[in-house]
Amino acid sequence: MSDVRNVIIIGSGPSGYTAALYTARASLKPLVFEGAVTAGGALMNTTEVENFPGYRDGIMGPELMDNMRAQAERFGAELVPDDVIAVDLTGDIKTVTDSEGTVHRARAVIVATGSQHRKLDLPNEDKLSGRGVSWCATCDGFFFRDQDIAVVGGGDTALEEATFLSRFAKSVTVIHRRNSLRASKAMQERAFADPKITFAWDSAVEEIHGDPKLSGLTLRDTNTGDLRELPVTGLFIAIGHDPRTDLFKGQLDLDAEGYLKVEAPSTRTNVPGVFAAGDVVDHTYRQAITAAGTGCSAALDAERYLAALS
Ligand code: FAD
Repeated sequence: MSDVRNVIIIGSGPSGYTAALYTARASLKPLVFEGAVTAGGALMNTTEVENFPGYRDGIMGPELMDNMRAQAERFGAELVPDDVIAVDLTGDIKTVTDSEGTVHRARAVIVATGSQHRKLDLPNEDKLSGRGVSWCATCDGFFFRDQDIAVVGGGDTALEEATFLSRFAKSVTVIHRRNSLRASKAMQERAFADPKITFAWDSAVEEIHGDPKLSGLTLRDTNTGDLRELPVTGLFIAIGHDPRTDLFKGQLDLDAEGYLKVEAPSTRTNVPGVFAAGDVVDHTYRQAITAAGTGCSAALDAERYLAALS
């Protein structure tokens, strides 16, 4: 059994590394579990990030994350490229178990495990990510000026993305497997009134084409099975996200969609000494800068919690 640490951070995206930077600079010597294969978080899978403040000319996602990592390490954050496989957050001393079964103890824990966007699970989807295939219109819409774009999904997010993208795109085709939408009436009315948006009803994406960039899709009619081609250079997949909260079920309060609940505007969860930040909490903004912002808040909340204990 290891010594009791001040703080353990689970997650290594913008929220985890920012929490690590702040707690390290506060001399709390954080121990950070980065994840075994996914260290650096969602931005490791993208190309250029143009909307993180401070990088006037943009920066590649992995480089941004390397910078954040190195900045946290410079002030003494201890970074471990391993997964947390179990936690016990109930007592004053929390325990966190790594993949080798070693139990680590801390007075405070910051959860920054992010969320996973749902995939279509098609060949080429990952290969063309950042090369025409995207999961975030706010992040990437700007790259698709005057292009023909498709959005997959039928909920509020899909229509919000389609309406946003129509500012830049030549055309936006919303691909939906049914012939009616789940999205709210207001979102539907906005999309129907937009002359650049058309709908491919009763359609599913069968294949994604392109090398090295996206060039088109094969759609399948969900009633007849008929196939047709849709030439597009942008594909936005908006079929939902899964927050990484399995570890915390039964210990921390989750909302109906499985995100961690916090006492907004703080990052306090329902368990004293446990704080949560980034996309594991946020189903509204989902940006690197907002994740970094709440990572900072979680570090400050943890600092104050620890100060009150002593
Ligand atoms: P994440 O970045 O998801 O990081 C969480 C990490 O925690 C995981 O990757 C993993 O390493 C770790 N983890 C999870 N579970 C465990 C565990 N049990 N043990 C140990 N570690 C664990 N936003 C922008 O602002 N601009 C952009 O241009 C932009 N482009 C994007 C492009 C793509 C392809 C994607 C998918 C997202 C993009 N985003 C962009 C959104 C942005 O990446 C996210 O909002 C942000 O990364 C969320 O940060 P986070 O720290 O909450 O979580």
